This record gives sequence, C-alpha cells and structure tokens, in this order.
Amino acid sequence: MRTFEKGVPGAAPRRPLPPFGDEHEQLRASIRRFVERELRPHAERWEDERWFPDEVFAKLAAGGFLGLKYPEAYGGQGGDHLHDAVLIEELGGCGSGGVAAGIGAHVTIATPPVFKFGTEEQKRRFLVPAIRGERIAALGITEPGAGSDVAAIRTRAEPVDGGWVVNGSKTFITGGVRADFVVTAVKTTADGGHGGLSFLLIERGMEGFTVSRKLEKLGWHASDTAELAFADVFVPEENLLGRENEGFYLIMANFQWERIAMALGAVAAMGRLVDSSLAYARERVAFGRPIGRFQAIRHKIAAMAVKHEAARALTYHALRRFHSGADAIDEVTQAKLLSQRYACEVADDAIQVHGGAGYMREYGVERAARDLRLGPIGGGTDEVMKEILGRRLGL
Ligand SMILES: Cc1cc2nc3c(=O)[nH]c(=O)nc-3n(C[C@H](O)[C@H](O)[C@H](O)COP(=O)(O)OP(=O)(O)OC[C@H]3O[C@@H](n4cnc5c(N)ncnc54)[C@H](O)[C@@H]3O)c2cc1C
Repeated sequence: MRTFEKGVPGAAPRRPLPPFGDEHEQLRASIRRFVERELRPHAERWEDERWFPDEVFAKLAAGGFLGLKYPEAYGGQGGDHLHDAVLIEELGGCGSGGVAAGIGAHVTIATPPVFKFGTEEQKRRFLVPAIRGERIAALGITEPGAGSDVAAIRTRAEPVDGGWVVNGSKTFITGGVRADFVVTAVKTTADGGHGGLSFLLIERGMEGFTVSRKLEKLGWHASDTAELAFADVFVPEENLLGRENEGFYLIMANFQWERIAMALGAVAAMGRLVDSSLAYARERVAFGRPIGRFQAIRHKIAAMAVKHEAARALTYHALRRFHSGADAIDEVTQAKLLSQRYACEVADDAIQVHGGAGYMREYGVERAARDLRLGPIGGGTDEVMKEILGRRLGL
C-alpha cells in the first residue's frame, strides 16, 4: 500500500516545539512505534470492515496510553494534557481517521468527565477499568432533535425510588455500538433551557438500553457511530455523574479540551498531507519535468504549508494557554475553527496535486479528505465557533 504519511521532510516541524519538551518527544517516539506496529498495518482492513477490534484498547492500555493524563492511583501515568496531546497527534498517523476517532472518543471526551466529576466509587467502577482498556466509554449528548442546540435535549430521566427511569434516544455517538458505558446527558427537570440537564452513567446490559442502529458515514469508516435507544431504563442513583441539574457545566468543562484535541488532529493530518504532496510533486513527471517545477503546483503546496504552519501555531498557542490554566476560550475556539477548515482545504489541494492518484484509495489522500470533513461539524460546528467568538467580541 502506498500511503501519504511516508512523505519526505518538509512540513514536519523541528521538534521539540513548545509546549512540548524532550520528555514528550520520547513519548512521541514510543507511541509512533506502537502506531506503526499495531495500527497502521491493519488500518485498511479495518476501514473495509467498518470496525476495529476491541483488543486495540487493551493493547493501548498495556502501553500506558489510555491513562496518560490520569493519576497513578487510578492506573494512569500521572501525566497531563500535553501527554495526551502527543497521543492525539500520533494517532493521526495510523492511516484511519476512524481508528483515531474511536480511540479519541474514549480518551478525550468520555473518560475526562468521569475523572473530573466522578465520585471515588465511580472512578473505581468506570475510570480504572477504562484506563485498563477493559471497559470502553462513549459520550452521549447529541439527539435527533438536539445537536448544536444542546439545551433542546429531550431524553428524560424521571426520578423514582433509588434512581431514575430514562426514556429517549441519542444519535451520532462515536463508539456507541461497542461502548460498555455511555456518559449520557439527560433532562432531570421539565424546564427548558440549560437548566435541568444531568449526566447518568448508563451501562451496557441495563434493561431497556439498546443500540438501535450502527450508522453509515462519509468517512471515519473504522469507527462505530451509534444511534441509542432508552426505553424505561432504570439507572440507580449511584450512577449520577456530577450534580443533578448541573450537567451543562460538565458539557462546557470538556468542550475546550475536545476542541484542542480536534485541532491537534487536523494539524497533524495537514502536516502529513503537505509531506505527501511534496513527495509526489518531486517524483511525478509531466511534460518532461517533475510537477513541482510548475509554478501552479509549487504555489499550491507553498500555500498548503502556510495553512499548516498557521493552524499549528494557533493550536499550540491555545494548548499552551489551556495547559497554563488561563482562560483559553478565545484561542481554543479560534484554533478549532481555523484548523478544521484549513484541513479540508489542504486535503482538497492534496488530491489536486496527486491528480488521478489522489482520487485512488491506495494513496490514502482521498480517505484523509473524507475523514477530515467531519472537523467543521463535530465538537461544535464552524457556525457555532463563530457565534462564540462573535459574542465574546461583544456583538
Ligand atoms: C461522525 C460523528 C461523530 C459524532 N460523535 C459524537 C459523540 O460521540 N457524541 C455526541 O454527543 N455527539 C457526537 N456527534 C454529534 C456532533 O457533535 C453534532 O453533529 C454537531 O454538534 C452538530 O449538531 P447537528 O448535527 O445536530 O447539526 P445542527 O445543530 O442541526 O446544525 C445544522 C446546521 O445548522 C447550523 N446551525 C445550528 N445552529 C446555528 C446557529 N445558532 N447559528 C448559525 N448556524 C447554526 C450548524 O452550524 C449546521 O451547519 C458526532 C457527529 C458526527 C457526524
């Protein structure tokens, strides 16, 4: 298989680049070896099969990669978000956005709320086995009638003796088909708006909880995306995550990290696309010369490299601010917006540079273009990012 990640030096920045240091580069090398050995050789088949095996989580756990940012007391590595950032960048090199997304959902969006808001007992029951790769987690917020408009969530949890009875549905849930538990947003009051939102840990096997559909998608083929149904599911009170009716804070708390993670993934993908386009432009000959010697192609790749570098600079800036504990909403929102849109543009340009080969599966460029198209939609759409920024500008 010819893949675009091989590339040649060119777009890859000289490392380490702040906020990363030597320690992170050692981790990077070890994750890269794991990706090359355990993921990349299988990516094509998993894309075809529309699934990757659960044992990938166990293998990641054996390398310590599922708990990089969690304390050793829970089986983690005692690191922080920067270590997870390295993981996210490197997973993008596995050749399948779906595999990266499937792992990312567990590490980046589903387990952090358990760590941040969970009781000690919940951390033992859910976080520890998740770090060991024994229980796979998903985050269930979106519903058929509520995406950008989170306050429109209708899945209802009625209080009963000892817990709640849940009725409703979720859709587009990454990892939802295989998940052992879903960190699920529910309405615990009849109020409209952001009030009355709570989170329940809903476990596979609870009566009335089913996967109603595995959804087919444009990209991210190896990841399972689910529609979930809840019909009179009894959820015990010990499965309430965080405080009742304060679920909106939980959603907001993890958005910043999810968006940085998406930006990091897009930047890493852009770097590989620039590299592969450079390599192709050097070797592909037309009209008696390498196509990179045509100004049209040379300028296109130069512009791709600028987009990559600009998105990387803004993303690392957001990451540095987030990591320092400062208010990073502006920077994170800008980085998410810019990186996802640029990544789509760079992927389209990469197809163009590769000509017909760019349209063929074996080069991996078309897959990258399909996978990256999710970026301006997931984790908050471009329009939502602009709304946030516009409001923060006082408009
Ligand atoms: C592959 C995939 C995986 C996903 N994984 C998960 C997951 O694991 N868990 C989860 O909970 N969700 C997940 N999602 C859902 C994702 O977060 C939502 O799709 C996203 O938030 C957008 O919501 P929506 O699809 O309902 O679009 P809508 O909110 O219906 O938006 C449709 C269009 O209207 C625009 N729009 C909406 N409101 C405004 C506004 N106020 N101003 C201007 N324009 C507006 C949007 O920007 C968009 O262009 C996933 C989605 C996909 C496609």
